[in-house]
Amino acid sequence: MYVKVKGLVIRENPSGEADKFLTVLTQEFGRISIYAGGTRSLKNKYIACAQILAFSEFTIHKTDRFTRMTEASLIESFYSVRLDYEKFLLAAYIAQTAYVISTESPDEDGLLTLVLNALFAIAYLEKPLWQIKAAYELRLMCVSGFCPSLGHCGLCGGEVSGEVLLDILGGSLVCRDCEDFSTEVPFLSAKIPADVLAALRFVAFATDEKWLSFRITDDAADTFANVCERYILAHTEQKFDTLSLLKEQNLFK
Ligand SMILES: [Zn+2]
Repeated sequence: MYVKVKGLVIRENPSGEADKFLTVLTQEFGRISIYAGGTRSLKNKYIACAQILAFSEFTIHKTDRFTRMTEASLIESFYSVRLDYEKFLLAAYIAQTAYVISTESPDEDGLLTLVLNALFAIAYLEKPLWQIKAAYELRLMCVSGFCPSLGHCGLCGGEVSGEVLLDILGGSLVCRDCEDFSTEVPFLSAKIPADVLAALRFVAFATDEKWLSFRITDDAADTFANVCERYILAHTEQKFDTLSLLKEQNLFK
């Protein structure tokens, strides 16, 4: 069966002398592995489509055992991201985290849209990279079913105000009273000032177009970024080598 499908390359692996296996994130099929013959040759006309972070329309030949690329047409290469080491590392981290979250079933939760929005933001928006990273991490948790419950206290159901505790593994808030008197101390938690909670709520509940449209003070930014990173690491239980590279380079404050 021949199919046309739009997809973003989130991983590439060399195969044989001149070929690649691409891992492509699509709406219709979720994550698929596509054999892209000849695409390691510099003379191949699909070389630009067969690289990580390329968003293309692929024509694929699908059988029960094997999916092979027969044609491809580039939609967006995110070229400017490739020219900047810091941007490229962040984009690679986004691709790696998306790989971990994605499944081989149709993408009904907007994972591809989220990843493309994040890459477009890195390439074309004047947003601080730390802000894109942190907000993406939280949104990714939301599209994968791990969104923290940010309304009321998860223990007593009461309103929260001022500084609260976020139970990172449980994905819920703990109000001041419960923090003082409860014996159920969260295993992993973070203190969340009110302005950080407001930013978390904004990102978690915003539409696909608006989730990066928030401002945050420098003081709150550090806590926000730290909480989002700890949250994704706790829920994916993964070590991301791209994140280690970002840290090694000290590219983020
Ligand atoms: Zn409570």
